[in-house]
Amino acid sequence: MLGPVILAASRSDRMRRLISAAPVTKQVVDRFIPGETVDDIVPIIKDLTAKGLELTMDVVGEDITTPGQATAARDAYLALIDHLKDLGLGEKVEMSVKLSMFGQALEGGHELALANVRPVVEAAAAIGTTVTLDAEDHTTLDSMFAIHEELRRDFPQTGCVIQAYLFRTEADARRLAAAGSRVRLVKGAYKEPAEVAYQQKHEIDKAYVRVLRILMEGEGYPMIGSHDPRLIAIAQELAHQAGRKLNEYEFQMLYGIRGDEHLRLAAEGHRMRVYTAYGTDWYGYFMRRLAEKPANLRFFLRSMVSK
Ligand code: FAD
Repeated sequence: MLGPVILAASRSDRMRRLISAAPVTKQVVDRFIPGETVDDIVPIIKDLTAKGLELTMDVVGEDITTPGQATAARDAYLALIDHLKDLGLGEKVEMSVKLSMFGQALEGGHELALANVRPVVEAAAAIGTTVTLDAEDHTTLDSMFAIHEELRRDFPQTGCVIQAYLFRTEADARRLAAAGSRVRLVKGAYKEPAEVAYQQKHEIDKAYVRVLRILMEGEGYPMIGSHDPRLIAIAQELAHQAGRKLNEYEFQMLYGIRGDEHLRLAAEGHRMRVYTAYGTDWYGYFMRRLAEKPANLRFFLRSMVSK
């Protein structure tokens, strides 16, 4: 019940100001967004890769309002890629980007987002890695898939995300499950209306399995973005049935959630990628993490009143 309320708050400027200014917020935020600058995040990248994990990096930010902010987003990713090059970690660390942070919602936003994201994809390719386009709310997806297709002409390894809760996703999965494609499947983290998305957890989980089967039986590279133990077990079974080797799919989880499971899957020989967010514009990302698990909200509220 709380999830939709928190997701509505994630789009409220008033709530953003209130929560961002609360003195205790930072300690709670750190669990999910463990740094604000590249210098903060480099030790974490080194630590996780030394443990046999791979990463996908998210410089947090979304729904920007000026072209200048979109350029700044591009530059933040380019600076990160420069650091990865110096660290020699290009192959272990890819980027995740939200096109709304690259200007997608501004006037002429489709072209603007494409123009801003292309240099990031080029720079990533130059150090031997790639970019995955995150999926945001359903109104942005046609543009996201068109940008994905455009980028794949020159950089076929560019990935994208599909969300099991949307009715459209089975059809998207069939189109995307082709040789060379990289597709991350997640349940979906936005507040979506009943006209376009399943609302009940059991319906979303069943849809997840249907879409996962399409990806596993297809010719692309499935990336299983979930912390759900049942879905992880089902993914292993479907991969086995489809005759996939361990390096022909991967698991992905968020930094700060089920860290032991990251290590367990990696120790079993799976490719395990940790989605690691950092930066200062963390509000939207943080609120979605609160919405996913009411216990997080209780912890957050308790720490506010106990100070
Ligand atoms: P759930 O049923 O929500 O969770 C299963 C279990 O995982 C829970 O019981 C709990 O133990 C643990 N858990 C899950 N979430 C939390 C949390 N926040 N805090 C503490 N424990 C938790 N969504 C998008 O819409 N677009 C994207 O581009 C996108 N990218 C993602 C990338 C990755 C790598 C991952 C893992 C998720 C991404 N998501 C994205 C979020 C996703 O849509 C879900 O909201 C999120 O993963 C929770 O769903 P779940 O599959 O983990 O299952």
